[in-house]
Amino acid sequence: MRRLLIAGNWKMHMIREEGIGLIDGILAGIDQVPANRDLMVFPPYTLLHPLSDRLRGSRCWLGAQDLHWEPAGAYTSGISAAMIRDAGCTTVLVGHSERRDHFGDTGSILARKLRAALEGGLSPIYCVGEHLEDREQGRTEEILRTQVAEVMGGLGVTEMGRTTLAYEPVWAIGTGRTATPEIAQEAHRYLRSLVADSHGAEAAGELRILYGGSVKPENAAHLLGQEDVDGALVGGASLKADGFLGIARAGVDA
Ligand code: PEP
Repeated sequence: MRRLLIAGNWKMHMIREEGIGLIDGILAGIDQVPANRDLMVFPPYTLLHPLSDRLRGSRCWLGAQDLHWEPAGAYTSGISAAMIRDAGCTTVLVGHSERRDHFGDTGSILARKLRAALEGGLSPIYCVGEHLEDREQGRTEEILRTQVAEVMGGLGVTEMGRTTLAYEPVWAIGTGRTATPEIAQEAHRYLRSLVADSHGAEAAGELRILYGGSVKPENAAHLLGQEDVDGALVGGASLKADGFLGIARAGVDA
């Protein structure tokens, strides 16, 4: 049985006072979230140390939004897996579409980043997803297949077991245009079938696949109710404690 995971990606938002206020708001309401659901937040690097102090002993895990592929070296502005671990994180995002589109992260760079995360003791969330024109041209499966193969293809079964996948159609991120639950389910089922082919049915059955793209408290229950949707990666709605907790509690009162 896969546990639901609700993860908040804060992107380039929040200075210290705001971030601490948001975490305190989340912690104040965390008991309303069913115990069988996992929670994670991905603040900017500058907030990792203060938030890790705040989150110690809680059930909300801390992650970074990106990492460098090398363990150390002359890479001005780079942040390594060891630094991220040292800041109190257990997880890191790899391959968010904003990294691919605005920072030039290619498949080969992302494969190195995913490996660096795993070798550095982190349990990464690897993000995939098609652009609108890919979907309109009927190329969604081809894009997902390529993104999975070029980055996850080299993982062993144990490494796959430490990795989470996030399906984030680029046309749904920050646009308010959420994928329908049916579209999400179809993509998630396809992604799981790819992992079944490459790593076997057991690994595929255990893999958590999150949906991301304009998830809000109002649409979360239906999305999370899909068979192959194991949680949500949330951007905008995770910047308010009520929004994040509303998604984390989705379906509970129904
Ligand atoms: C994201 O950036 O991962 C995301 C899903 O953003 P939003 O929820 O704002 O669409």
